[in-house]
Amino acid sequence: MTGKERARPHWAVRMNYRNRSLSALLLLATIGSHLSDLGAGLPAWLALAATFLVYPHLVYAVGKRSARPLETEIRFMLVDAALYCGWVGALGFPAWIGFILVVALVLNLVVFRGMTGMALALGAVAVGLAAGWALARPEIAPATGTLTTALSMLSLFLYLMAFGHDAYTRALQLRQTRDRLRDNEQALQRQLGEIQALQTQLKQQAELDPLTGLFNRRYLTATMEREMARMRREGRPLSLMLIDIDHFKAVNDTLGHQAGDECLVRLATLLKINTRESDVVCRWGGDEFLVLLPTLPREAALERAETYRKAFESLPMPRGGEVQRATLSIGVACHPDDARSADALIAAADAALYRAKQGGRNRVEHGGAPAARDPSAIDA
Ligand code: GH3
Ligand code: MG
Repeated sequence: MTGKERARPHWAVRMNYRNRSLSALLLLATIGSHLSDLGAGLPAWLALAATFLVYPHLVYAVGKRSARPLETEIRFMLVDAALYCGWVGALGFPAWIGFILVVALVLNLVVFRGMTGMALALGAVAVGLAAGWALARPEIAPATGTLTTALSMLSLFLYLMAFGHDAYTRALQLRQTRDRLRDNEQALQRQLGEIQALQTQLKQQAELDPLTGLFNRRYLTATMEREMARMRREGRPLSLMLIDIDHFKAVNDTLGHQAGDECLVRLATLLKINTRESDVVCRWGGDEFLVLLPTLPREAALERAETYRKAFESLPMPRGGEVQRATLSIGVACHPDDARSADALIAAADAALYRAKQGGRNRVEHGGAPAARDPSAIDA
């Protein structure tokens, strides 16, 4: 907030100052015309000048310094009602002047305080009328001259027009603010949608292997415990398969790394196509893949492994060259017969895979106790 903004009086103080000083000029003319018709003396003219030329500026000076400007303004509006109606009483209740003043003063307070405002304003009006009547002219003289009547009508007309215009500007500002708020809310919703989409994307990326689009090791580790617990609860079997491409280094070396990638993608596709919805296929790392098969018993898992092995063997290589075909070695392990924990089951499948490599590759092995791997023995 700048110093200039801080120095700016409250909107109600500014609005009332403008309305009060403008209507004071109109009332000065109207009541002045009536005083002239009555042939009033100097004290009356001085009182008129004090009420309509000095008082509005005094109110403004107090209002803009007030710590609670809205409440101060409402109090001054009640003073307006009493003071102006004091004139009406003092002048013997001139009908036109009295009518426009009561309407305008009550309306002012209704805007700020509703029906309570009306009751308060009418109370102040009554006090003013009684005080004016008692102090100055205890008589009733409702008639006014033509000019005074015309000025009264003009004052009421101008006052109501200014009032309507104020209401119009405020409604317009309100609509613009509402539109702006709606636009901001829509932008916020859009940004929220984008953030949510990004979060989903990030979560997927954290769980997927970028080359093959299969789940990665992190996802499998989290899922496997859950799946095993479920199978244990339901008393059903669960099989696990570790699949490794034979001599994959040679594929890379002879056909190039890109062809090696293509080979990995083809194996991933083959695995994806030949799995049930409940199976979890993941790239375990390098040229090694893991397939989790909830509810599948050993025989069915071995059959499935054979299907993969044969299908991959018959796949043409990405490009011609020295390596004409690639094969798979697969190790299968089954819960609960081979192992009861996730780690032990993976170790059992790993041991079976090791035996498959040792046994000459391009084959499926299963079960058995985990055995230490000896890469030199495999490659020999
Ligand atoms: P084995 O029959 O004993 O499995 O022999 P292998 O040559 O396949 O040996 P190993 O499984 O140890 O080698 C895996 C190779 O896979 C080594 C590495 O260069 C390659 N590799 C790992 N990740 C990628 C990859 O994302 N793309 C490609 N093209 N090659 C990869
Ligand atoms: Mg390999």
